[in-house]
Amino acid sequence: MPSRSTPVTPWTPAFVADAVAATLKRAVEQDLHQAISEVARERGLSSATVDEWVARARSVPAAPVPPGLVTCHDCDHPMILVQLPGCPPVYLCMPACGRAPVPAQALRDAVAQAVLHRAPHLVPPGKTHCAAAYAPGGIHRVAVGAGPTDLHVTWRSEPRQLVGPRMSMAQRLTYAWTRAEHGDHARAIEALQTGLLHTDPTNDLPALDVATANAAALLAELTLTHGDPSAALSWARWACRSLRRLRGGTSPEARAALKVLATVYRRTSKLPEAADCYRDLVRHHTLADGPRALPTLAAQATLALVLYQDGHCVQARQLLARTTAEHRATHPGHRDGPRLRQELTRMRATCVDQRHGHPAGIDDPPHDSTAAFTMGAQRHDS
Ligand SMILES: [Zn+2]
Repeated sequence: MPSRSTPVTPWTPAFVADAVAATLKRAVEQDLHQAISEVARERGLSSATVDEWVARARSVPAAPVPPGLVTCHDCDHPMILVQLPGCPPVYLCMPACGRAPVPAQALRDAVAQAVLHRAPHLVPPGKTHCAAAYAPGGIHRVAVGAGPTDLHVTWRSEPRQLVGPRMSMAQRLTYAWTRAEHGDHARAIEALQTGLLHTDPTNDLPALDVATANAAALLAELTLTHGDPSAALSWARWACRSLRRLRGGTSPEARAALKVLATVYRRTSKLPEAADCYRDLVRHHTLADGPRALPTLAAQATLALVLYQDGHCVQARQLLARTTAEHRATHPGHRDGPRLRQELTRMRATCVDQRHGHPAGIDDPPHDSTAAFTMGAQRHDS
C-alpha cells in the first residue's frame, strides 16, 4: 500500500480541487506521473494522495455524474468529484472559484431526472438506476448554478446512444477490440465514441493516458476501414501525437498509430503529408527493428508508391528499386518479393508510356542491374 499524506492543514474540497487542477494543467506539458509528483512535493502531500484525487476526478466507472459533463455556472470551469475521508462526496469546480461544493448524490439525481424526463429513450431498459451515466448521450453540458437543482442544461442537437458508459477506458478498449475482431465494427465504433465523447481531438491537449490514446487510434482505424477517411483524420492525428508523447515515437503503439495516420492521409489524397508520415515510419522502424526489417522495408516501399502517386517518379523508382534489392537480399523467397518487382515494372512502364523522358536505367542499382524488378506494396498499408 502506498503511504498516504498526513494533513498538516485541514484538507478542504477546494484544496483538493486546486491540487487536481494544478496537476492536470501541468500534465499537458509533461507526463501525468511527473506532474503528480511535482504537485505533491510542492504542496507537502504524498504522491499517492494526489494520484488518488486525480484518479477519482477522472474515473468513469464509479462516478455519480460522468466526468466532463458538469461545469460551474459561476466560473465556467469543469466540476470534479471530490471525496474526503468521513465526508459525503461533492462536486466542485477546478480550480475552485469560492462557491459552495455541490452534494454529489443530489446532483446525480437531478441529472438523472433531467435525462429521464426529456430523453428517456437514451436510457436502456433496466438502467434507470444509473440514468445519469447515460446523460452525455443527450446532454452536451450541465452548468451548475446555486445548487443541484439549479441546472442549466445544454442539450445535444443530435442525441446519441451510449455503449457501456460506465466502462473504464481500458475495459472499453478491450470490448471494442473484441467487437471489431468479431466483425461488429459499428458497435466497436460506438463504444469508442462513447468513451471519447468529451475529447476534442482538434484542440491542443493530448491524451493523459495510453488507454485513451489507443482508443483514439483504434477509432481512427475502424472509421477508416468503414470508408470515412476524413472523419478518421483528426483522431489519427490526436492518437499519434498523444502516443508519441506518452510512449515515444519508436514504441509499437506510436508506430501503429502513425501507420493509421499515413494511410488516412493517403486515402484523402494528402500525399505530401502521407509521404512525411511514411518517412517518419521508416525512421522509427529502423530504430526499433533495423533498416532491413520487413516493417521498415514495407514502409519504405509504400513511401515509394506515395511519391510516385504525387508525381515524384524518379525519386519513387530509385527508392523502390533500392527497397526491392534490399528486400531480395535480406528476405529471399518472401511472398512480397514478386509484388515489389511487379510494382517497379509498372512504374517504369507508366513512365515510358507517359514519356516522362528519364534516361533508361535511372533507378537500376548498379549491383543488380539485370533484375526484372516489379513490386506491389498496396497491401503493406492495410
Ligand atoms: Zn466555479
